[in-house]
Amino acid sequence: MVFNHKLTERGVSKLMRGEELDKPIFQILGFKKIAGQGGSDRYRLNISDGTHSHTFAMLATQLNHMIPDGQLDNFCVIRADKIVSNAVSEKRVLIILELTVLATGTEMKVKIGNPVQFVEGGSASQADTSHAGSNLNRPFRVQESAGHADRPTPNPRKWDTGFGSDSEAVMPIRDINPYNSSKIGVKVRVTNKGQVKTWSNSRGEGKLFSMDLLDDSGEIRMTAFNQQVDQMYELIKVGCVYTFRNFSVKSANKNFSTLNNDYELSANQDTQFTLCTDAEASDIPVVSYEFVEIANIEVAEKDRIIDVIGVCKKIGDLQTFTARTTNKELTKRDIVLVDKTNREINLTLWGKQAEDFQDDSNPVVAVKGAKVSDYNGKSISCMMSSSMLVNPDIPEAHVLRGWYDNVGLHTESHSLSMSRAPGGTGTPWKLIREANTMNNPAAQDKGDYYMCKTTIVAIKRDNAMYRACPGEKCNKKVIDGGNGFFRCEKCNKESSDFKWRAMANVNFADCSSNVWATCFQETAEIVFGLPSETLGPISNDDPDQFDGIIKDAAFKSYIVKFRCKMETYNSENRLKHSVLELHPVNYAEYAKKLLNEIKECAPA
Ligand SMILES: [Zn+2]
Repeated sequence: MVFNHKLTERGVSKLMRGEELDKPIFQILGFKKIAGQGGSDRYRLNISDGTHSHTFAMLATQLNHMIPDGQLDNFCVIRADKIVSNAVSEKRVLIILELTVLATGTEMKVKIGNPVQFVEGGSASQADTSHAGSNLNRPFRVQESAGHADRPTPNPRKWDTGFGSDSEAVMPIRDINPYNSSKIGVKVRVTNKGQVKTWSNSRGEGKLFSMDLLDDSGEIRMTAFNQQVDQMYELIKVGCVYTFRNFSVKSANKNFSTLNNDYELSANQDTQFTLCTDAEASDIPVVSYEFVEIANIEVAEKDRIIDVIGVCKKIGDLQTFTARTTNKELTKRDIVLVDKTNREINLTLWGKQAEDFQDDSNPVVAVKGAKVSDYNGKSISCMMSSSMLVNPDIPEAHVLRGWYDNVGLHTESHSLSMSRAPGGTGTPWKLIREANTMNNPAAQDKGDYYMCKTTIVAIKRDNAMYRACPGEKCNKKVIDGGNGFFRCEKCNKESSDFKWRAMANVNFADCSSNVWATCFQETAEIVFGLPSETLGPISNDDPDQFDGIIKDAAFKSYIVKFRCKMETYNSENRLKHSVLELHPVNYAEYAKKLLNEIKECAPA
């Protein structure tokens, strides 16, 4: 076979000087597997442009398969369709992200030209080649500490300008602010690395990823954009300690960061990072948690970000569903955590984390940055920014392990996360009199949610049923045009069609008081015992039958979840009750609850 592609002349030296080349062509003269952290192996390639060869070319992990597959072999010629060069410490590392094999090694059979090992900052010579040859046999480390001068011929000028002893100083994260020099640098552990996210809006498109950095003084987030994503993402490993220099400092956007820091860092084109040795990293803590006991999550407000540790007591099934807004298929899994407070909570895992979590040996699970939800009682959910560790080697985990194996395993615990059954411990039980007072502080802001066993004593007949817009997501009341058409003001549409909806004003009583509350569609249908499609025409055509339905609905008892909220109406404050859930009373369950309350009241 005749090989028609010329290797890119001086391609290696140009790339190493930081020049950008459009799809350079190289010959592969060898490769070496490097065992990576967490089982992610990397391949380092020795690439040649016929004049120079260079062994600091990394193959992006998604291309790893090309080596065992035999697509990449010695002497093959490749076109690097996407390549980034990245200054790491005083070394430059090339990463090949996409490539096309132009000719296989079997076709080529020989080395093109007589390339010599490229030496950064110096001229290549035969002597360098021999040194580089021995270099190839050593385990490769992309990032070496600036203090380790065990590489060939470091350029003395560079030591003066960028790596003098002064610039090796690092500052604690606590002291970072936009006014002190970011050149001083930080020595930090990467505790979390988010996924690469892309954005697209009127101002353009791009990508970014964020990572959480920690030292013994605090934590801070660093975000890298676009080109810096290419340069950093593959190289940064969670759990490793790096020094970062030359970054931008700005006020933290609290919408995107849950870390306890008013500032955050951005990587820029001058940002350098260096992997620290184990000895250098020994003074940097592993991950700092501020665990919230599960019992205390009960009073944690919605959307609060917390750290949680617990024993995984149950694993739910993997669930797949389609997101309504994006039409994307999502997977999730709920697991149940329990801790020494004998309280359980549901933790929702998403995506790959949900798929991978199958450990049914009751492992200890620690989550940093879980979000509190008040859906069905209290639950917590992992977010993109959360990090989860299974059986972490931290004191809290060992204590929990000991507690669970000796005590927790045999003790009944109570869940803060309600199943669909009423009376879950997530929502407090109250009497109507307790909630329905102008002094109820919870009602002022977000509304006071409470459970109550009540009996219906009256239902307002008027406007219990109304004609609503037939639009799928629109439930707006339509205006009867009197011409066979009904108008929805919200959709700005007229239609001969409508759907019946129920909105009942119901008076509920308990032993303490009574209150008018609104039951919307689903709960109103339970009250009336008939679906809206049936109720609507009856209310319209047969008032006597409708009165009968209302009569039958009265004096029935339910466990109700109310929301009580202060609303301003005609510049007057008043409390408005609405019904969120309505369940028939399960008297066995309810009696158990009452018995427990009696036990708690009894002297020990
Ligand atoms: Zn509508």
